[in-house]
Amino acid sequence: ASHYPPRPSLFIVHITPEMAPVAKVGGLADVVFGLSRELAIRGNHVEIILPKYDNLRYDHIFEMHQVFNDLWVPWYDGAIHCTVYFGFVHSRKCFFIEPHSHDNFFNRGSIYGFNDDILRYAFFSRAAIEFLWQAGKHPDIIHCHDWQTALVPVYLYEFYQQLGMTHPRACLTIHNFKHQGITGAEVLRASGLHRPEHFFDRLRLGDDHHPNAINLLKGGIVYSNFVTTVSPRYAFETKDQGQGFGLESSLHTHHMKYGGVVNGIDYDVWNPEIDHYIPVRYGIENLDGKYDNKRALRHRLMLADNEKPLVAFIGRLDPQKGLELVRHAIFYALERGAQFVLLGSSPDHRINNDFWGLKRMLNDSPDCHLEIGFDEELAHLIYAGADMMLVPSQFEPCGLTQLISLRYGTIPVVRTVGGLADTVFDKDYSERPLHERNGYRFDNYDTLGLESALGRALACYYNFPEHFRELIKNAMRCDYSWNRPGQDYLNIYDFIRNR
Ligand code: ADP
Repeated sequence: ASHYPPRPSLFIVHITPEMAPVAKVGGLADVVFGLSRELAIRGNHVEIILPKYDNLRYDHIFEMHQVFNDLWVPWYDGAIHCTVYFGFVHSRKCFFIEPHSHDNFFNRGSIYGFNDDILRYAFFSRAAIEFLWQAGKHPDIIHCHDWQTALVPVYLYEFYQQLGMTHPRACLTIHNFKHQGITGAEVLRASGLHRPEHFFDRLRLGDDHHPNAINLLKGGIVYSNFVTTVSPRYAFETKDQGQGFGLESSLHTHHMKYGGVVNGIDYDVWNPEIDHYIPVRYGIENLDGKYDNKRALRHRLMLADNEKPLVAFIGRLDPQKGLELVRHAIFYALERGAQFVLLGSSPDHRINNDFWGLKRMLNDSPDCHLEIGFDEELAHLIYAGADMMLVPSQFEPCGLTQLISLRYGTIPVVRTVGGLADTVFDKDYSERPLHERNGYRFDNYDTLGLESALGRALACYYNFPEHFRELIKNAMRCDYSWNRPGQDYLNIYDFIRNR
């Protein structure tokens, strides 16, 4: 018996610059990987179109073969010849587009970081939709991601609809507002979007803050049938609280087709019942296994084995993550008789050096360990072994650390922003029923705010252990798999198909 309501199956095509694990830079890659499988499990036909980067993880692509060798993609006054390959990536159906030109768009050894990135992805976007057209594919939904593929809806409604591609509806997901593809007229010339006065108009691609510039992400917002970001709270913050990096007024104009969907996490990877990175597997029925992992974590990091609660932080050491508060929390936790473990790294040497300094300062403490680096395996052990996970971010579009922590029964202590506000509900102050409360929150980005939440968490651990245990069970009962977001996206697809 299926718990999915009966519905027509859809043909959905994702056009994306990244997908885990073959082409991954950030969270966008994991979203496409997780969402595409969930949509397929629900009986939809899902295909994914990616650039054929030279640095794809080819060991994760199966049965790769050429399927289309005759794709000519208009570019400037001519056209670029492309070959299209097909392959399975962990059972997902993927097409990879390989252009043949001296531009060498996707043979650069890495995914981003080139002067012509905007042209590279304007080309990829054009090639992907030209491929759909030439191959006679008429998906119900074309789902694009970030500025890199934001031109797809523009091409759809400016060119391909006139050619007869009237069926597909376009959905755009914005994972990152910081990068928007703000550029000059060149990209219009390259991609055949003539009539600059038409496209430079503020109602279309014209940037709201830089005169004489176009903004690709804005074009995606204007032309898509629906726009999403990665949590409802972040959708509100980007539109109404000045966090849209200049796109606030565009989001306002298009608020009727803008919303947030919280990302899922992959419970095949993040699940203490089957996790092979941790020494003792456990679940809600045998919670004591969690304390064996706590002991193993302490042993591995040479921390004292005592009665103290263990507070952790895992994340990029980026100012976004609230580093002053992390630093403060370390001393506060130690002073309040807790242990602290940090796992993080930064590409910025100054930040790394600051934390190295802190590490040396705390070197002799039997209750504190800072691990500066990236370590997937240790991350699993910390999620399993810690009692609390601190996420004091300045801003957080969705956040995965709190979702993973909940699954491992590690109580999140978070700032009330973005996706954190949509997924963590305060034990003492939430309006939710008791059994749905799963952590601690604070509002103000300052040390008092942090202490108010972490202090309450530590007090509960010491003084009301049976309450703390209930909280752990509430946390582990939460479902932040792709199940719910899968349904949310299908509802959005239905909404735009029926308008
Ligand atoms: P962001 O995408 O802003 O970095 P998220 O919370 O969405 O933040 O995702 C972070 C992910 O990266 C989590 O899965 C976290 O466990 C992992 N991670 C971050 N830093 C490290 C690290 N130093 N070692 C291992 N895993 C890390």
